[in-house]
Amino acid sequence: MFTYNYHTHTSRCGHAGGSDEEYVQAAIKAGYQILGFSDHAPYRDFYHEGCHMRWSQLDDYVQSISSLKEKYKDQIEIKIGLESEYYPFNHEERKELAKRFDYFLLGQHFAHPSGIGASYFRQNSEEEIMEYGKTVCEGLRAGFYTYLCHPDVIMSHQPCFSKTCETVAHMIGETCALTDTPLEVNIRGILKGKHMFEEGEFYSYPNRLFWKIIAEYPVRVTIGIDAHAPEDLLKTGDIDKAMEELKDLDLHFISDPFI
Ligand SMILES: [Zn+2]
Ligand SMILES: [Zn+2]
Repeated sequence: MFTYNYHTHTSRCGHAGGSDEEYVQAAIKAGYQILGFSDHAPYRDFYHEGCHMRWSQLDDYVQSISSLKEKYKDQIEIKIGLESEYYPFNHEERKELAKRFDYFLLGQHFAHPSGIGASYFRQNSEEEIMEYGKTVCEGLRAGFYTYLCHPDVIMSHQPCFSKTCETVAHMIGETCALTDTPLEVNIRGILKGKHMFEEGEFYSYPNRLFWKIIAEYPVRVTIGIDAHAPEDLLKTGDIDKAMEELKDLDLHFISDPFI
């Protein structure tokens, strides 16, 4: 069903393995027609070790993927993008960076590019969850993000789907509808299996309770492997599990977020 994957990392981020070429070869083997690289974007003035590439690695990233794009052009279409947080204080830097790439994904992992403060894949306070929601919505309104990655990443270590989580899901659904930005069902959360929340047993992400709210809005939904190793691109069974989890929700999956 899905012949593309726009969410692929490289070893430059410090927590992914394999060579760039191995990702391309795995994508061809898995039958993808389009492979998009979207490694964790760097910041000119901040470096959070093990979480994103360095600013000085940008040129190598572009050159390496560009040469693979040419080398494999008869077998697969390759696009070069980045996955980046949004921070109001460096709006202009993000905007300029986005212009250099085929596409730019919004993936909000931290409250600050240096890593100080909240990590949204840890357990968060209600205030931190609200801050996540507000910043993501501001990022969506910035107008330079192609789609929103793992909007439900905040459910990673929460004990329950609180009233704040519910409010944030509504804020994100509404803003994605207003800005016509697709949201990504992220397959990486499937790897960790289901967890017992106060409301029942669910994946942290894609989190069924979160997506049930998103389904109330007229939004487009895409899928992303979030590959951190070449072999992740071959795990099509995890896509089936995610689709099974959300199948009765009225989600409008699109064939390609660029269409
Ligand atoms: Zn990552
Ligand atoms: Zn991410």
